[in-house]
Amino acid sequence: MKHLSKVGIAFLATVLVTFSSHAATTSVEVLHWWTSGGEAAALNVLKEDMKKKGYRWVDSPIAGGGGEQAMTTLKARVNAGKPPTAVQFLGYDIIDWAQLDVLANLNEIAAKENWGSVVPEPLQKFSKYQGKWVAAPVNIHSNNWVWANKKIFDELNIQEPKTWNQLIAAAKKIKKAGYIGIAHGGQAWQEAVMFDTLVLVTGGPDFYRKALIELDQKALTSATMRRVFARMEQIRELVDENFSGRDWNLATAMVIEGKAGLQLMGDWAKGEFLNAGKVPGEDFLCFRTPGTDNQLVFLADQFAMFEVGKDAQEAQFALASSIMAPSFQIAFNKVKGSVPARTDISDAEFDSCAQAGMEDLVQAGKNGGMVGSLAHGHAVPAAIKNAAYDVITAHFNGEYNAAQATKELAEAIADAQ
Ligand code: BGC
Repeated sequence: MKHLSKVGIAFLATVLVTFSSHAATTSVEVLHWWTSGGEAAALNVLKEDMKKKGYRWVDSPIAGGGGEQAMTTLKARVNAGKPPTAVQFLGYDIIDWAQLDVLANLNEIAAKENWGSVVPEPLQKFSKYQGKWVAAPVNIHSNNWVWANKKIFDELNIQEPKTWNQLIAAAKKIKKAGYIGIAHGGQAWQEAVMFDTLVLVTGGPDFYRKALIELDQKALTSATMRRVFARMEQIRELVDENFSGRDWNLATAMVIEGKAGLQLMGDWAKGEFLNAGKVPGEDFLCFRTPGTDNQLVFLADQFAMFEVGKDAQEAQFALASSIMAPSFQIAFNKVKGSVPARTDISDAEFDSCAQAGMEDLVQAGKNGGMVGSLAHGHAVPAAIKNAAYDVITAHFNGEYNAAQATKELAEAIADAQ
């Protein structure tokens, strides 16, 4: 998916002014990419909540982590004059659409429910545009997690790795014992998830900000960046030969079923373990990618409402209100694997992985360790993100060595700006 061009933006704006409402007063159509077992279970919490309130849920699932396919479908829908009433969004995509002035203003409800004082600042950057609330955040996810099969770790006497080298040594040991070392799905966004995590592991939060948010050419062409790509090559050596194109949840299933030792993936992976009846600490282990304790490569799923006319507005406000309710944030995030997008929620009802995640969030907020995910559009807008995706995935598939990839990435990012 390519970034919206200026011409495209103008065209979409014209179309949006002219479309009419297609939703019945009590129905809300939600476009999202939550199609795995764990994701569907989490979404069900929201569906049920809306049903209880008397609204009809019209489901529009478009599979594909990172939301690339969903965003492509959204553009087509809008071009056809048929936008959904509510859409799952990530980071800069919200701002892109807000700039077109096509998103509903949620200020009234945000003020009534005091969102401004409970939603963490780094999220508000994407929930608000020019002082207007345009999206309601449902969660905070982070990329820098490792999900491991406990039985395999126990059998091979592997302790939780504390350094990157220990993690690679553990995966090698797992591979040597006949399992798949690292479960991976070969899709660009999944490689980008490992990549942005490795930028944090290798360079720390300041380097991450310089390279992936400020797009500083010195950082992008540095020896640290070459090390990041070299570490991606270490991962490449430890995945199975059928990794190409595999969906992320199928890779998670390989860990759940004891075929692979571990997966480097965001905490939506936990939703899959839970959905399979697995228990953290008993069946699986969750730990931060070594070297990133109390740090977060974060992303937040947010729902924005398209202006589809007055009739739908009541249902849209009800949806936004449901999303922001503390009881819902607890119920939903317990299933989804993420942590609440509010700062006023106790961790008492959450499992050990989420409790650690909530503590990391507090600490990262204090120590500057919270950085927006490149892979998930929280570091830079889609045009630059997509340019980075292309290089990261080409390198992972052997097209470039680490030095070439470093150069290509810096150039692609410069060109895309
Ligand atoms: C979303 C998560 C989702 C994951 C895999 C990410 O882009 O933010 O909510 O679970 O993709 O589909």
